[in-house]
Amino acid sequence: MKKVILFVVDSLHPSVLGRILSEGNAPAFRFLAKRGTYIDRVTSSFPTMTPVATSSMITGTWPDRHGVPGFIWYNEEIRKIVDYGATWQSILKIGLEKVLRNLLLKLNQNHLNPETPTLYEELEAGGYSAGNINFFMYRGTNPSLAKVPFPLALGTRFRLHQEDVLGPSHLTLGQLVHPNFSGWTTAYPRGPFHRFGFNDIFSGRIAAQLVREGQQPDFMVVYFPDNDKYSHQHGPLRSGFSIERADQQVVSVLDEFGSWERALEENVIIVTGDHAQSTVGLGKEYLIDLDCALKAFKRLKNTEEVYLGNNKHEIAICPNERMAFIYLLQENDEILPEVVGILAKDPRNAQIAWKVSDNRYCVVQGGTEKQLFFSRTGPYQDVYGETWSYEGALTVVDAQVMGEQTIEFGKFPDAFNRLISALEARSGRRIAVSATLGYEYFAIGAPIHPGGGSHGSLEIEDSTVPMIVAGMPVRLDHARIIDLCPMILNNFGLRSRV
Ligand SMILES: [Zn+2]
Repeated sequence: MKKVILFVVDSLHPSVLGRILSEGNAPAFRFLAKRGTYIDRVTSSFPTMTPVATSSMITGTWPDRHGVPGFIWYNEEIRKIVDYGATWQSILKIGLEKVLRNLLLKLNQNHLNPETPTLYEELEAGGYSAGNINFFMYRGTNPSLAKVPFPLALGTRFRLHQEDVLGPSHLTLGQLVHPNFSGWTTAYPRGPFHRFGFNDIFSGRIAAQLVREGQQPDFMVVYFPDNDKYSHQHGPLRSGFSIERADQQVVSVLDEFGSWERALEENVIIVTGDHAQSTVGLGKEYLIDLDCALKAFKRLKNTEEVYLGNNKHEIAICPNERMAFIYLLQENDEILPEVVGILAKDPRNAQIAWKVSDNRYCVVQGGTEKQLFFSRTGPYQDVYGETWSYEGALTVVDAQVMGEQTIEFGKFPDAFNRLISALEARSGRRIAVSATLGYEYFAIGAPIHPGGGSHGSLEIEDSTVPMIVAGMPVRLDHARIIDLCPMILNNFGLRSRV
């Protein structure tokens, strides 16, 4: 039975990967694409944000099942906004300790639904070993000792104990958790200027080391975070350079097998991304200022808590780059029409969606104010085999009925499913807004990228990643990132328990 290595490049853009493959500048990806299957369109989650998408990849479910709604979201259980550290300002405000706790512990131990097992849990329960190198979603059953680096320990009162980090048997989380370095320790970039080991080279070095030392688990995820940062800064279409750098790390791992041919004889090797990015305009008009648009409503601040019984807050704005959640905090939905009315007048809001009642959802197009109601099950079928009913303008999600009863989505792939999964992720009444190409949302605590790259929306540009699968035959006609899980389990002769 072959082992599986899954390389995940954050914000991997399909046409940029396609271009550098044809230019021959990414030798490892090119080798794998030539020997394997190259799928240039795989649909990601909505919102197209890393915690949401990576949870979908590792559990094979959408956020309505796995329970991680966004990078910033309102948690009804604790009646507070959760922020995994979107900006340095928010990290300062919330406190580094809390951000680390949210990102490293709560995201995996509390937020990720315990009912949706991770690939690591499924594989280890089936008798296989699993490993994770720097991928944020790591939940497993083996305790690892986390060592908090000195500068971090100074700035926080952060104390992690051995039982705090439960992951697969081979776990690397930057310099917090890692196997003993082999050879020169300077070869592993870490410390405050190298994001404490959360960088491509560190990930590549650890992966290569595991192979070299005969420690490679049956399944391992190797995550490369650097491309996301580069693409945000320079724009997705200029991200070729950082994708090539991720490729160099894959080269170093493949080299450890003696020959690349041998690497493929012994392994299934998959390369993909979590989501892509799209270009944001330079200039104030490309920022949709939600604080300003919704200033008439009393907003819950990032550090505040909603008090039961005497709640004066009306909304919580949770910006996720090119999408935002507006949670409604009052007992009744009285202000919903007002909030929707304001958002619907702005053509920069491509979709404004909310749940009307049980299995009935509404989505409105900003500017035109066209409406579309939709529900699960009905006479219309999509390419994934799911059925729907609808009334209103399908153009709101760029869909059309082909032939008799087939619904096809254009610019907003798998729109019905993905909208519902964002509206049904955990409890809390909310409106989800998704921006038109070129725009992103602004509110206090939102990271912005004028003239650079951004993601989060339902739009195809943010939502489509490429995937290379080598060393195993694969047939996926309408691929989505949730297909990874069954595909990998299948290689080991296992089936998902959910
Ligand atoms: Zn990003």
